[in-house]
Amino acid sequence: MIIILKQNAPEQQVQALCDELKARGLQIHASTGSEARILGLVGDTKAIAESWVRANPVVEDVRRVTEPYKKANRKFHPADTVVQVGNTKIGGGNFAVIAGPCSVESEEQVLTVARAVQTAGASLLRGGAFKPRTSPYSFQGMRAEGLELLRAAREKTGMPIVTEIMNTEHLPLFEDVDLIQVGARNMQNFELLRAVGRMKRPVLLKRGLSATLEELVMSAEYIMAEGNDQVILCERGIRTFETSMRNTLDISAVPMLKKMTHLPVVIDPSHAAGIAWMVEPLAKAAVAAGADGLMIEVHNDPARALCDGAQSLTPDQFAALMGQIAPLAGYLGKRVN
Ligand code: PEP
Ligand code: MN
Repeated sequence: MIIILKQNAPEQQVQALCDELKARGLQIHASTGSEARILGLVGDTKAIAESWVRANPVVEDVRRVTEPYKKANRKFHPADTVVQVGNTKIGGGNFAVIAGPCSVESEEQVLTVARAVQTAGASLLRGGAFKPRTSPYSFQGMRAEGLELLRAAREKTGMPIVTEIMNTEHLPLFEDVDLIQVGARNMQNFELLRAVGRMKRPVLLKRGLSATLEELVMSAEYIMAEGNDQVILCERGIRTFETSMRNTLDISAVPMLKKMTHLPVVIDPSHAAGIAWMVEPLAKAAVAAGADGLMIEVHNDPARALCDGAQSLTPDQFAALMGQIAPLAGYLGKRVN
């Protein structure tokens, strides 16, 4: 961090600031030029808020030269993190597909879809039990009963399950969930992030609708700061001025997140597009950009789905997509599992 001092800053106040910074364990390299005087801080500045420094009357400006995230930062952990969910590995050259319905609707529905996506090559089963819906009058999910149906589908197929937690009060219900999803709307629910950080279970963290990549990584940092480094990042489309799709898929998030962090990155083309026919080209683009996996919504009868039918693939469409994705990922050197 570099602090630029105001011209003619009183020496006594500058000294007081330096003493406070030293008390926080930082070394200070001061340098005086003809026009400005600067303090270079050496040490761990992640807990020093720029706003706190800027509030000091002797400070003209402050610049951060290192990122405020450490545990998620590739600079301090160059090797890719591999997250293992059941027998499935994601990251570090391992590629996996998560598929299933937006919402669990019935025992038959979730099992039918689970068997179909498993046959087509998906290794993890998704399904929402607690649903974050824009309207309180829309289907809210089968809640605890939905989790039971997912467990039953896991029992029958052997597929690990991926489902969203919305609330810290529900934590006891999620203790045996294989991959806990924190959805876009909860990306900055910091209490929830801390709580899943203490769970020591893999977490799928989705990017908020209007979150920057640094904000997404800082949310991963919350989970990791509690001791859980099994975090997978998910780009699922962001809000832009474009209205012809539900969201805009930010493909550039894949290479940028991989530069910023060592965590696996998966793409959810279903929520990004909001339209089933666009899932295939976006999924291919994600693989080509280097994603470590995909999350795709599949429904046995999309027209009658209780949630997100328009973006859901039929089992046949999903099988056709897998027929293209797996060879492409293999061609790019990934181990598909
Ligand atoms: C979902 O995956 O079911 C979901 C609600 O996604 P998002 O949080 O990305 O909207
Ligand atoms: Mn959905």
